Amino acid sequence: MTDKRSETCLYPFVELSDRDEYPDGTKFEVIHTHDGRGAGIRTRTPFERGERLCKVSGQIVASRRLHTLQINENVHLYDPHFTGLLLHSCDPNVFLNMVDMELWALKHIEPGELLTMDYASTETVLSRQFACQCGAPNCRGWIAGSKESPHRPDGTLTAVIGDTATICEAH
Ligand SMILES: [Zn+2]
Repeated sequence: MTDKRSETCLYPFVELSDRDEYPDGTKFEVIHTHDGRGAGIRTRTPFERGERLCKVSGQIVASRRLHTLQINENVHLYDPHFTGLLLHSCDPNVFLNMVDMELWALKHIEPGELLTMDYASTETVLSRQFACQCGAPNCRGWIAGSKESPHRPDGTLTAVIGDTATICEAH
């Protein structure tokens, strides 16, 4: 048998899955949320703050689409198996280093937690901006890419304070 592929690697690529630094099903599981956010990644093991969770991979594509993460303006990583499933939070527990293609823990992570990243940390433009309900005290409310104006579905611009986009809600 030349196929040494791990049965538990979340990536279906033989060349990656026989190396244990890629996301493994004994440490992570793909789940489907019932709150409309779609799929997500949940941990099965704890991670310490500052620990590297895994290396990541995917296909290099020229344009953004569902399940891509931006490497630069014209280069995107298409990964529908792992990174493309990470949910957004304005107070995320992981950071994706798109230069080294590694996922790092920003805080202590318990088994069973959903992994979250800040979409604006990789994307300059989002294919679809959205209202965030992450519940973090620093929640930006409306999520846009890091280099685009936040605009609501009806086309109106939200207020921009400094570099941080904020929706001004009338209470
Ligand atoms: Zn938020």
